[in-house]
Amino acid sequence: MARRNTKKDRKKRDRLFREQNGVCYWCHMPMTRMARTAPGAVVPHYTLTLDHVPSRVIAKMNGVKSKLVAACLACNLRRAQEEHAQIELVRAHLEKPQG
Ligand SMILES: [Zn+2]
Repeated sequence: MARRNTKKDRKKRDRLFREQNGVCYWCHMPMTRMARTAPGAVVPHYTLTLDHVPSRVIAKMNGVKSKLVAACLACNLRRAQEEHAQIELVRAHLEKPQG
């Protein structure tokens, strides 16, 4: 369900970027703003992205609201992987037969 970046998203990203002084929320490495890249071009791992904490899926599962932070692409991807594993665990737990 990829969604194109809207103006609002860009504004949010810019605001978080400034608020965090241009460093990643997780690894505190300096990030660069998304450059206009050609389709299929490799995006640098220190590219600024928006990350949901906790992720939208986890937040929904726990009935909590997630907040947005500015994170580098590397951390965003790493967290996505970690959370995927977490979600699988929760799912396995939920799908336990009842009785
Ligand atoms: Zn990072």
